[in-house]
Amino acid sequence: MENEKSKVCAAIEREDAALRDISINIWDHPELCYDEHHAHQVLTTYLQAKGFSVEGQFKLPTAFRATTQSKDFTDDAPTIGVMCEYDALPGIGHACGHNLIAILGLAIACGIKDVMDSGDLKGKMIVLGCPAEEGGGGKVKLIHTGAYEDMDIAMMAHPSQFNLPKPIYVANSPVTVNFKGKASHASSFPWNGINALDAAVLCYQSVACMRQQFRPTWRVHGIFTKAGVKPNIIPDEAELLFYCRAPNSKELTELQRKMVGLFEGAAVATGCKVNYCFDPLSYDSLMSSEKLASLYVANGEELGIKFENDPLLLGKQGGSTDMGNVSRVLPSIHPKYSLNTDISAHTKEFCDIASDEIDDSEDDRDYDNDLEDESDLLGDVPDRESDPAAVEIDQDPQDPYNAVTEVEFDDQADSDMDSDVDENGESQWVKNVNHFPPIPLFTGQPGIKAAIPDDPSPIDIYNLFITDELIAEWKTETNVMQEQSSTLKTCSCFQIEADSKNGSQ
Ligand SMILES: [Zn+2]
Ligand SMILES: [Zn+2]
Repeated sequence: MENEKSKVCAAIEREDAALRDISINIWDHPELCYDEHHAHQVLTTYLQAKGFSVEGQFKLPTAFRATTQSKDFTDDAPTIGVMCEYDALPGIGHACGHNLIAILGLAIACGIKDVMDSGDLKGKMIVLGCPAEEGGGGKVKLIHTGAYEDMDIAMMAHPSQFNLPKPIYVANSPVTVNFKGKASHASSFPWNGINALDAAVLCYQSVACMRQQFRPTWRVHGIFTKAGVKPNIIPDEAELLFYCRAPNSKELTELQRKMVGLFEGAAVATGCKVNYCFDPLSYDSLMSSEKLASLYVANGEELGIKFENDPLLLGKQGGSTDMGNVSRVLPSIHPKYSLNTDISAHTKEFCDIASDEIDDSEDDRDYDNDLEDESDLLGDVPDRESDPAAVEIDQDPQDPYNAVTEVEFDDQADSDMDSDVDENGESQWVKNVNHFPPIPLFTGQPGIKAAIPDDPSPIDIYNLFITDELIAEWKTETNVMQEQSSTLKTCSCFQIEADSKNGSQ
């Protein structure tokens, strides 16, 4: 039998020019999250032409699903999910190289389909077009709408400076902090005003001070999204958006608690009101499947790819990805692959590189190598229950500062601010702590259906928090503005009202 993996490689080679055209086409039309209509059209047209069964606008307006299976497919054969991403960044285009992730998905799908069609491989392949990775949580929504239920494993790869089979991606919880004050003439009657911008500045500076007490693996970065309209008007509203990142859910909760203290402190100090809202579409840390990652390395090395072995690089944390949430549902991999550059993503320079043809003149990789071991080609995929990813490993073994503090969730129960405590004695802000619950999903019980025990954990509370109504809104939403407002509406924000009379004097 001719080597099937070589056939896959040959099929991909035949698509080389067409895939490059698609990559450049998408790169030339950068579209932000949930607005990727051009990319959606380009990718679905190609997959349709290649004989895939394509469902456009699959569950979300710019998502799609393309399916193919061998003639002899039966339910006991594996179903492989391959993710495409195709959203860009504001102002700097495809600076994360998602145009390359898009064609990578197409390449894998075409290569496998070719061999399936020849009757040499039994299985099913699903290409899932995933919008809005850059902060929109496209895959989180797709998980909740059941898009991953048919798959046995999920995989994708991300362009980078490095070849890393199991990169570290941390959990990310975005939070919007809104301060409300009172407008007044800034020169004639400043004492009648309450300056919301001062509250926001104080909050921002408090975060900077608190960094001294942050663990080395935590990251908090923020911007001002509202900061007044004119210097001679005391700003009556100011708003900040922070990303709060930590390697695991326990530490993220610890970080969120510190952040809440800073928000509330700034409000009290300035006499403003504050609303804060942790995004329910937060990203989980990535748990790469050991088995899939080792297969990726074995096959890559056979092709001559050199993987990084510097311990510092292997332990270096990256950003965050909604593939982290997928990795809690299915055995997954999200390796980084090198574009032969030392420039980091999210820069204009990386955007340019994402459109370049890679100079492989000094590349000693041998793509014509025959891959001898075929036992892993759709033959031996990890299953949900036995894969290490099925167990919540909520500590980063590479983190030397990993003495995770147990967080008591009811230690604010005696707070004198009634609005902060619910009937169970839980601090309400904990309701916004948002980690995808792995156990209910692995038992085939989506979070929304999970029974709530007498003594609910934050994950139980989260399960309550993702409502059928919210999922229905995700299914029907038509634009990002609607999506944001519905998300914020559903999110149980809460408010502190400081004594504005005293604060204004
Ligand atoms: Zn990115
Ligand atoms: Zn990216």
